[in-house]
Amino acid sequence: VVVACPCALGLATPTAVMVATGLEPIMRAQKIRYVIFDKTGTLTQSRAAVTTVKVFTEMDRGEFLTLVASAEANSEHPIAKAIVEYARHYHFFKDPNVINSPKNESNTNTEWLLDASDFCAIPGRGIEADINQKQILVGNRTMLVEKGISISAEVENFLTNLEENARTGILVAYDYELIGVVGVADPLKREAAIVVEGLFKMGVRSIMVTGDNWRTARAVAREAGIQDVRAEVMPAGKADVIRSFQKDGSIVAMVGDGINDSPALAAADVGMAIGAGTDIAIEAADYVLMKNSLEDVITAIDLSRKTFARIR
Ligand code: ADP
Ligand code: MG
Repeated sequence: VVVACPCALGLATPTAVMVATGLEPIMRAQKIRYVIFDKTGTLTQSRAAVTTVKVFTEMDRGEFLTLVASAEANSEHPIAKAIVEYARHYHFFKDPNVINSPKNESNTNTEWLLDASDFCAIPGRGIEADINQKQILVGNRTMLVEKGISISAEVENFLTNLEENARTGILVAYDYELIGVVGVADPLKREAAIVVEGLFKMGVRSIMVTGDNWRTARAVAREAGIQDVRAEVMPAGKADVIRSFQKDGSIVAMVGDGINDSPALAAADVGMAIGAGTDIAIEAADYVLMKNSLEDVITAIDLSRKTFARIR
């Protein structure tokens, strides 16, 4: 079912804003009491940018960036893309002969990257690979601790500071030693706070759920005007969060974009995927927000309320 012409229902939105896969979710949307938002790529723009690079060893900054980018070049995660992009810019401005202009969108020069073997992505944690026969780990605290890397007080302080400023601190360990931290910012979508406020006025509560750490999650939620936060949640855990809100019979919507959101999108009464999200998320959802705008969460509820109020 394509909800193509909301103007017929007296709404201002003129174009196809969302695609729903059935009548049931459209009928259910009017009763939504809770909207659970994923953080990365849903509330945020998913246009992460590196803001800080801190090397904790003797290693040269450029060398460090090449190493991290070479490992992350195999990942689709927005954080990975940000790191590769940053390293590319860094090298370009140091020596334009080594690398094509990073401004060139069709830039496919990867010669500056090192060969990474045995690449492995661990959802909600980070990535692992081998470079020059040595193990490289790029990810969050949980992952590094699980892999037996110790985090010094100096590094911990550095991370805390980043996280309190709504940044995500990505740790890098090479050859079993923590060698640096990359600070990444992922700003809120422009409409995020407005939508949360709008939902509140409609009697709908917003909750944020994320695989990211607690401090960053709280800082981002505060910016969005969301009080209820669940952080350091693994993909299966996101579906559990949905079920916990459904316990009293409440109708719960999930809005997400990633592979890690698909169990929750399927568990929700109304699953809404960001149009630019991964195919797996889109398949698991009832609605696809074609413009990637969170405003269409309101539109979906509004449309359902107006439509079924008229029929009744
Ligand atoms: P969200 O639940 O907010 O969408 P994700 O589950 O995608 O977030 O990621 C959770 C955390 O896992 C990230 O904040 C980051 O610390 C870590 N992570 C995931 N993938 C990567 C990667 N490719 N490189 C570095 N860190 C990663
Ligand atoms: Mg996400």
